[in-house]
Amino acid sequence: MKQVPIVSHPAYEAVLPDGHRFPMRKYGRLAEVVAEKGLASNGFARPGEASSELIALAHDRAYVDQVFACSVPHEIERRIGLPVSESVVRRARTSAAGTLLVARLALQHGLAGSTAGGSHHGQRETGAGFCVFNDVAIAAKALRAEGAIQHALIVDLDVHQGDGTADCLRDEPDLFTFSMHAEKNYPVRKIPSDLDIGLPDSMEDDAYLEALRAHLPRLLDAIKPDLVFFNAGVDPHRDDKLGRLCLSDEGLRQRDDYVIEQARSRQIPLVAVIGGGYSADIEALARRHAIVFEAMAAWGEKE
Ligand SMILES: [Zn+2]
Repeated sequence: MKQVPIVSHPAYEAVLPDGHRFPMRKYGRLAEVVAEKGLASNGFARPGEASSELIALAHDRAYVDQVFACSVPHEIERRIGLPVSESVVRRARTSAAGTLLVARLALQHGLAGSTAGGSHHGQRETGAGFCVFNDVAIAAKALRAEGAIQHALIVDLDVHQGDGTADCLRDEPDLFTFSMHAEKNYPVRKIPSDLDIGLPDSMEDDAYLEALRAHLPRLLDAIKPDLVFFNAGVDPHRDDKLGRLCLSDEGLRQRDDYVIEQARSRQIPLVAVIGGGYSADIEALARRHAIVFEAMAAWGEKE
Protein backbone atom coordinates (compact mmCIF):
# COMPACT_ATOMS: atom_id res chain seq x y z
CA MET A 1 0.00 0.00 0.00
CA LYS A 2 1.28 3.40 -0.98
CA GLN A 3 1.46 5.80 1.97
CA VAL A 4 1.04 9.54 1.62
CA PRO A 5 4.23 11.21 2.95
CA ILE A 6 3.71 13.30 6.09
CA VAL A 7 6.16 15.87 7.41
CA SER A 8 6.21 16.58 11.13
CA HIS A 9 8.63 17.78 13.81
CA PRO A 10 8.45 18.09 17.62
CA ALA A 11 9.51 21.75 17.22
CA TYR A 12 6.15 22.45 15.54
CA GLU A 13 4.83 22.73 19.10
CA ALA A 14 6.54 25.69 20.75
CA VAL A 15 6.65 26.48 24.46
CA LEU A 16 4.23 29.25 25.44
CA PRO A 17 3.57 30.89 28.80
CA ASP A 18 1.01 29.00 30.91
CA GLY A 19 -2.57 29.87 30.04
CA HIS A 20 -1.77 31.42 26.64
CA ARG A 21 -4.90 31.54 24.47
CA PHE A 22 -3.25 29.97 21.38
CA PRO A 23 -3.89 26.18 21.32
CA MET A 24 -0.22 25.26 20.75
CA ARG A 25 -0.67 21.74 22.13
CA LYS A 26 -2.74 20.82 19.04
CA TYR A 27 0.44 20.42 16.96
CA GLY A 28 1.94 17.72 19.16
CA ARG A 29 -1.40 15.99 19.65
CA LEU A 30 -2.14 16.03 15.89
CA ALA A 31 1.11 14.20 15.14
CA GLU A 32 0.13 11.61 17.78
CA VAL A 33 -3.38 11.22 16.36
CA VAL A 34 -2.04 10.83 12.81
CA ALA A 35 0.35 8.12 14.06
CA GLU A 36 -2.38 6.40 16.12
CA LYS A 37 -4.58 6.20 13.04
CA GLY A 38 -1.80 4.37 11.20
CA LEU A 39 -1.33 7.15 8.66
CA ALA A 40 2.40 7.48 9.31
CA SER A 41 3.54 3.89 9.73
CA ASN A 42 6.56 4.65 7.55
CA GLY A 43 7.43 7.45 9.99
CA PHE A 44 7.40 11.20 9.58
CA ALA A 45 9.76 13.08 7.28
CA ARG A 46 11.66 15.61 9.41
CA PRO A 47 12.50 19.13 8.22
CA GLY A 48 15.48 21.15 9.36
CA GLU A 49 15.26 24.87 10.12
CA ALA A 50 14.78 27.38 7.30
CA SER A 51 17.69 29.77 6.75
CA SER A 52 17.23 33.54 6.74
CA GLU A 53 18.04 33.54 3.00
CA LEU A 54 15.21 31.13 2.28
CA ILE A 55 12.71 33.06 4.40
CA ALA A 56 13.79 36.36 2.82
CA LEU A 57 12.43 35.09 -0.51
CA ALA A 58 9.00 36.08 0.83
CA HIS A 59 9.80 38.48 3.69
CA ASP A 60 11.59 41.75 4.18
CA ARG A 61 15.16 41.07 5.30
CA ALA A 62 14.99 43.49 8.25
CA TYR A 63 11.93 41.68 9.65
CA VAL A 64 13.60 38.27 9.19
CA ASP A 65 16.70 39.48 11.03
CA GLN A 66 14.58 40.87 13.89
CA VAL A 67 12.80 37.54 14.28
CA PHE A 68 16.03 35.51 14.18
CA ALA A 69 17.45 37.78 16.90
CA CYS A 70 14.20 37.52 18.96
CA SER A 71 14.10 41.30 18.89
CA VAL A 72 10.94 42.23 16.98
CA PRO A 73 9.40 45.56 17.99
CA HIS A 74 6.75 45.24 20.66
CA GLU A 75 4.08 46.45 18.23
CA ILE A 76 4.81 43.58 15.80
CA GLU A 77 4.94 41.04 18.63
CA ARG A 78 1.53 42.30 19.72
CA ARG A 79 0.20 41.88 16.17
CA ILE A 80 1.55 38.33 16.04
CA GLY A 81 -0.09 37.46 19.35
CA LEU A 82 2.72 35.10 20.35
CA PRO A 83 5.88 35.93 22.29
CA VAL A 84 8.74 35.87 19.74
CA SER A 85 10.94 33.64 21.90
CA GLU A 86 13.66 31.18 20.84
CA SER A 87 11.10 28.38 20.92
CA VAL A 88 8.58 30.28 18.78
CA VAL A 89 11.31 31.28 16.29
CA ARG A 90 12.49 27.69 16.05
CA ARG A 91 8.90 26.66 15.40
CA ALA A 92 8.47 29.26 12.64
CA ARG A 93 11.74 28.22 10.94
CA THR A 94 10.97 24.50 11.22
CA SER A 95 7.44 25.00 9.97
CA ALA A 96 8.68 26.96 6.92
CA ALA A 97 11.28 24.29 6.14
CA GLY A 98 8.59 21.66 6.67
CA THR A 99 6.25 23.19 4.13
CA LEU A 100 9.03 23.40 1.52
CA LEU A 101 10.01 19.78 2.23
CA VAL A 102 6.43 18.55 2.04
CA ALA A 103 5.82 20.49 -1.18
CA ARG A 104 8.82 18.71 -2.73
CA LEU A 105 7.38 15.38 -1.54
CA ALA A 106 4.03 16.25 -3.12
CA LEU A 107 5.73 17.01 -6.43
CA GLN A 108 7.38 13.60 -6.21
CA HIS A 109 4.49 11.51 -4.89
CA GLY A 110 1.33 13.42 -5.88
CA LEU A 111 0.06 14.04 -2.35
CA ALA A 112 1.77 15.02 0.89
CA GLY A 113 0.89 16.88 4.08
CA SER A 114 2.59 18.69 6.94
CA THR A 115 1.21 18.65 10.49
CA ALA A 116 1.77 22.43 10.70
CA GLY A 117 1.92 25.34 8.25
CA GLY A 118 -0.60 27.64 6.70
CA SER A 119 0.66 30.76 8.51
CA HIS A 120 -1.25 32.86 6.03
CA HIS A 121 -1.35 36.15 7.97
CA GLY A 122 2.42 36.51 7.74
CA GLN A 123 3.06 39.55 5.52
CA ARG A 124 6.31 40.65 3.90
CA GLU A 125 7.25 43.09 6.59
CA THR A 126 5.43 41.77 9.62
CA GLY A 127 3.87 38.77 11.26
CA ALA A 128 0.27 38.89 12.46
CA GLY A 129 -2.58 36.72 13.69
CA PHE A 130 -0.44 33.95 15.29
CA CYS A 131 1.73 33.81 12.13
CA VAL A 132 5.45 34.67 12.15
CA PHE A 133 6.62 33.56 8.69
CA ASN A 134 4.40 32.73 5.71
CA ASP A 135 5.50 29.15 5.04
CA VAL A 136 3.37 28.65 1.92
CA ALA A 137 4.59 31.88 0.27
CA ILE A 138 8.19 30.95 1.08
CA ALA A 139 7.83 27.43 -0.34
CA ALA A 140 6.02 28.62 -3.47
CA LYS A 141 8.64 31.28 -4.17
CA ALA A 142 11.52 28.88 -3.54
CA LEU A 143 10.12 26.23 -5.90
CA ARG A 144 9.34 28.88 -8.52
CA ALA A 145 12.87 30.35 -8.24
CA GLU A 146 14.57 26.98 -8.73
CA GLY A 147 12.29 26.07 -11.64
CA ALA A 148 10.63 23.12 -9.89
CA ILE A 149 7.27 24.72 -10.67
CA GLN A 150 6.03 27.41 -13.01
CA HIS A 151 2.44 27.90 -11.83
CA ALA A 152 0.96 27.24 -8.42
CA LEU A 153 -2.55 27.64 -7.02
CA ILE A 154 -2.97 28.41 -3.33
CA VAL A 155 -6.37 27.16 -2.17
CA ASP A 156 -6.83 28.81 1.21
CA LEU A 157 -9.94 27.50 2.96
CA ASP A 158 -9.03 28.67 6.44
CA VAL A 159 -11.98 30.70 7.73
CA HIS A 160 -9.86 33.87 7.80
CA GLN A 161 -8.83 35.72 4.65
CA GLY A 162 -5.29 34.96 3.44
CA ASP A 163 -4.03 38.54 3.60
CA GLY A 164 -0.40 37.69 4.29
CA THR A 165 -0.09 35.27 1.38
CA ALA A 166 -1.70 37.86 -0.91
CA ASP A 167 0.87 40.40 0.28
CA CYS A 168 3.92 38.11 -0.06
CA LEU A 169 2.88 36.93 -3.55
CA ARG A 170 1.49 40.21 -4.88
CA ASP A 171 4.19 40.46 -7.59
CA GLU A 172 3.91 36.79 -8.60
CA PRO A 173 1.19 36.37 -11.26
CA ASP A 174 2.17 32.71 -11.69
CA LEU A 175 1.48 31.98 -8.01
CA PHE A 176 -2.29 32.41 -7.81
CA THR A 177 -3.90 33.08 -4.44
CA PHE A 178 -7.50 31.94 -3.85
CA SER A 179 -9.05 32.58 -0.45
CA MET A 180 -12.54 31.53 0.59
CA HIS A 181 -13.36 32.82 4.07
CA ALA A 182 -15.95 34.40 6.37
CA GLU A 183 -16.16 37.96 5.09
CA LYS A 184 -16.81 39.58 8.48
CA ASN A 185 -13.96 37.75 10.18
CA TYR A 186 -10.38 38.89 10.88
CA PRO A 187 -8.51 40.57 9.20
CA VAL A 188 -10.62 43.73 9.06
CA ARG A 189 -8.41 45.27 6.35
CA LYS A 190 -8.02 42.54 3.76
CA ILE A 191 -5.15 42.59 1.28
CA PRO A 192 -6.75 41.35 -1.95
CA SER A 193 -5.92 37.84 -3.14
CA ASP A 194 -6.09 37.02 -6.85
CA LEU A 195 -9.56 35.68 -6.00
CA ASP A 196 -11.39 36.33 -2.75
CA ILE A 197 -14.73 34.76 -1.95
CA GLY A 198 -16.17 36.24 1.24
CA LEU A 199 -18.92 34.11 2.77
CA PRO A 200 -21.79 35.26 5.01
CA ASP A 201 -21.83 34.31 8.69
CA SER A 202 -23.22 30.96 9.84
CA MET A 203 -22.97 29.25 6.45
CA GLU A 204 -23.48 25.47 6.68
CA ASP A 205 -22.03 22.49 4.82
CA ASP A 206 -24.14 22.41 1.65
CA ALA A 207 -23.94 26.11 0.80
CA TYR A 208 -20.22 26.13 1.57
CA LEU A 209 -19.52 23.16 -0.69
CA GLU A 210 -21.61 24.73 -3.41
CA ALA A 211 -19.50 27.92 -3.24
CA LEU A 212 -16.33 25.84 -3.50
CA ARG A 213 -17.70 23.89 -6.48
CA ALA A 214 -18.46 27.18 -8.23
CA HIS A 215 -14.80 28.24 -8.26
CA LEU A 216 -12.25 25.47 -7.75
CA PRO A 217 -12.72 23.46 -10.98
CA ARG A 218 -12.59 26.53 -13.20
CA LEU A 219 -9.47 27.84 -11.43
CA LEU A 220 -7.70 24.51 -11.88
CA ASP A 221 -8.68 24.40 -15.55
CA ALA A 222 -7.64 28.00 -16.22
CA ILE A 223 -4.38 28.07 -14.26
CA LYS A 224 -3.26 24.47 -14.86
CA PRO A 225 -1.00 24.68 -11.81
CA ASP A 226 2.04 22.45 -11.36
CA LEU A 227 1.20 22.31 -7.64
CA VAL A 228 -1.76 23.08 -5.38
CA PHE A 229 -1.06 24.36 -1.87
CA PHE A 230 -4.11 23.52 0.23
CA ASN A 231 -4.60 25.43 3.49
CA ALA A 232 -7.03 23.04 5.19
CA GLY A 233 -7.81 25.25 8.20
CA VAL A 234 -10.53 23.71 10.34
CA ASP A 235 -11.74 27.02 11.77
CA PRO A 236 -14.84 27.08 9.48
CA HIS A 237 -16.16 24.44 11.95
CA ARG A 238 -19.29 25.40 13.90
CA ASP A 239 -17.58 24.78 17.27
CA ASP A 240 -14.53 26.91 16.43
CA LYS A 241 -13.84 29.76 18.84
CA LEU A 242 -12.76 32.18 16.09
CA GLY A 243 -14.77 31.00 13.08
CA ARG A 244 -18.09 32.52 12.01
CA LEU A 245 -19.21 29.60 9.82
CA CYS A 246 -21.10 26.45 10.76
CA LEU A 247 -19.45 23.48 9.07
CA SER A 248 -19.66 20.02 10.62
CA ASP A 249 -16.85 17.44 10.81
CA GLU A 250 -18.55 15.72 7.88
CA GLY A 251 -18.63 19.00 5.94
CA LEU A 252 -14.89 19.46 6.49
CA ARG A 253 -14.31 15.88 5.34
CA GLN A 254 -16.35 16.47 2.17
CA ARG A 255 -14.48 19.73 1.55
CA ASP A 256 -11.09 18.06 1.89
CA ASP A 257 -12.13 15.07 -0.24
CA TYR A 258 -13.37 17.45 -2.91
CA VAL A 259 -10.21 19.58 -3.07
CA ILE A 260 -8.01 16.48 -3.24
CA GLU A 261 -10.22 14.83 -5.85
CA GLN A 262 -10.31 17.96 -8.03
CA ALA A 263 -6.52 18.26 -8.05
CA ARG A 264 -5.65 14.58 -8.35
CA SER A 265 -8.22 13.78 -11.04
CA ARG A 266 -6.28 16.33 -13.12
CA GLN A 267 -2.94 14.72 -12.10
CA ILE A 268 -1.98 17.91 -10.25
CA PRO A 269 0.19 17.38 -7.14
CA LEU A 270 -1.34 18.69 -3.91
CA VAL A 271 0.34 19.61 -0.65
CA ALA A 272 -1.78 20.14 2.49
CA VAL A 273 -0.92 22.35 5.45
CA ILE A 274 -3.16 22.52 8.50
CA GLY A 275 -3.94 26.23 8.93
CA GLY A 276 -6.09 27.50 11.79
CA GLY A 277 -8.35 25.83 14.29
CA TYR A 278 -9.20 27.18 17.73
CA SER A 279 -10.69 25.32 20.64
CA ALA A 280 -9.86 24.66 24.26
CA ASP A 281 -10.72 21.01 23.51
CA ILE A 282 -7.35 19.94 22.12
CA GLU A 283 -8.46 16.37 21.49
CA ALA A 284 -11.43 17.43 19.33
CA LEU A 285 -9.26 19.97 17.55
CA ALA A 286 -6.45 17.54 16.76
CA ARG A 287 -8.98 15.02 15.43
CA ARG A 288 -10.49 17.71 13.25
CA HIS A 289 -7.07 18.56 11.82
CA ALA A 290 -6.48 14.84 11.19
CA ILE A 291 -9.40 14.79 8.72
CA VAL A 292 -7.29 16.10 5.83
CA PHE A 293 -4.66 13.41 6.45
CA GLU A 294 -7.39 10.74 6.44
CA ALA A 295 -8.76 12.19 3.20
CA MET A 296 -5.32 12.13 1.58
CA ALA A 297 -4.72 8.55 2.76
CA ALA A 298 -8.07 7.43 1.34
CA TRP A 299 -7.26 9.01 -2.00
CA GLY A 300 -3.68 7.73 -1.90
CA GLU A 301 -4.99 4.16 -1.69
CA LYS A 302 -6.99 4.72 -4.87
CA GLU A 303 -4.02 5.98 -6.89
ZN1 LIG B 1 -7.90 30.99 10.51
